[in-house]
Amino acid sequence: MTIAPPGPQAGSPLLIDDAQLIGGDWVPAAGGQTIDVINPATGEVLGRVPRGGADDVDAAVRAAEAAFPAWRDTNATARGALITRWAQLIDQHATELDQLESQEVGRPSWGPPPMSRILNFIAGQADKVQGVTLPTYTPDAIGLTLREPYGVVGAVIPWNAPAPMFVNDVGPAIAAGNTIVIKPAEDAPLTALALAKLALEAGIPPGVVNVVTGYGHEAGAAIPAHPRIRRMSFTGSPDTGALVMAACAQNLTPLHLELGGKSPQVILAGADLDAAIPAIAMGITMNTGQICAAGSRVVVERSIHAEVVQRLAEQMSKVKVGPWYEQVNMGPLINGKQHERVLKYMQLGQEEGADLVLGGGRPSGEQYERGFFVEPTLFDNVDPAMRIHQEEIFGPVLGVTPVADEAEALAVANGTDYGLVASVWTNDVGQAVRFARGLQAGQVAVNAALGAGVIGGPFGGYKRSGFGRTMGADAVLDYTQVKTVSLRGTGV
Ligand code: NAP
Ligand code: MG
Repeated sequence: MTIAPPGPQAGSPLLIDDAQLIGGDWVPAAGGQTIDVINPATGEVLGRVPRGGADDVDAAVRAAEAAFPAWRDTNATARGALITRWAQLIDQHATELDQLESQEVGRPSWGPPPMSRILNFIAGQADKVQGVTLPTYTPDAIGLTLREPYGVVGAVIPWNAPAPMFVNDVGPAIAAGNTIVIKPAEDAPLTALALAKLALEAGIPPGVVNVVTGYGHEAGAAIPAHPRIRRMSFTGSPDTGALVMAACAQNLTPLHLELGGKSPQVILAGADLDAAIPAIAMGITMNTGQICAAGSRVVVERSIHAEVVQRLAEQMSKVKVGPWYEQVNMGPLINGKQHERVLKYMQLGQEEGADLVLGGGRPSGEQYERGFFVEPTLFDNVDPAMRIHQEEIFGPVLGVTPVADEAEALAVANGTDYGLVASVWTNDVGQAVRFARGLQAGQVAVNAALGAGVIGGPFGGYKRSGFGRTMGADAVLDYTQVKTVSLRGTGV
């Protein structure tokens, strides 16, 4: 049975139509054009956003510059309290925000969204930004460091989890006293705009948070290219990350890159498969595999290889696919381009000679015809040299690679250019320690697929997965620069 999608509908105060936020005002694009936001389950138009460009980014930078001195000089406890208030409003609207994100991303509910949790953690750091006192050569001087905000910072975020991404950048940036210009992805800008509206309602002053909507090559490219953006943060693909870094190089703007992944799930003989199999199947099908941390490569010891493949196939075949508002586990992919790309990788895996065990294309049935649906897909006997083993697919495609022993498992797990997340499943503490140290990734989980629920764990990549860390105890510090002050007293 098809039911009407729940969530914010036309007229809802959280659904902002054809407006972006610059200096506290909801304004159209300078050029007057708009972009339709599409429901990926049906192809229907959910809303419209301005097609912002360089002029809009420039206006937002000016608004953020105007707001900066007063925000910087607001005491840090008060800044933290405003962020806490924002988190409370987000909690009050948690269901609507979750459904709004579901509408534009096309995913079933993940349960209570994490935004207020992230912001409460960050708010607590706002007034714990401290410098140090320094020794001096003579007793008539005092040395110390100040941690100061950069000024106006810029951010570009992707569409796969727009709400957590938005608060992950905005929260620490403004907690440290910066003001921000942020561009959400054109595919999923609505939740970001709703969150910005709640920030204003919470009392965060106009101009502190500015959201410019638009295409990546227009509004997105204009942010790192702007000479008065003092620090940049980008979350997205490595190719776009390289463009952003090149633009930052022109202005010598420091930056932080959160990029893609090809995360291994190493399963060693003796591992608890009752725990591993459901967690791995869930990790690659959640959000239709469109998670940077998704474990897309199973590296398994040969002695348990056949059992693992059979159980993964069983588990993944239970994943129900459909529109997010029906009783399903997996929605469509985000857009037509991504749909084509993932289907191409499904084809490529077969051409490269991997064994297709499950899925491999579009699900059949009338209900799948309008949306960007694909099947949960499992390949076996994937050679580490294959492209489906090396390249990020960003879809529900899992490859299994059998290995002889622990040493080969570690080499295969580390054998891609990426290094975002890595898991090892083992019952042996010695193995757990060796893999925790040996895996080249910013996050290593033992006996868990997407992390074991650590609070305040810094998140970021090794190798081509990027550099810099979000979410940890240093998240706010990272949005500050250090000034050394030396004071010489006269008449001491
Ligand atoms: P993408 O194409 O790189 O897009 C990401 C963002 O960059 C979007 O807002 C996009 O705008 C914008 N953009 C595009 N071209 C730009 C340019 N020339 N200059 C500045 N901005 C530009 O990435 P995607 O394919 O949408 O997202 C998936 C990728 O993000 C995957 O690789 C995934 O692993 C990665 N990701 C990483 C993390 C992490 O924390 N490490 C988290 C989530 C996703 P438009 O889309 O509006 O054009
Ligand atoms: Mg869309």
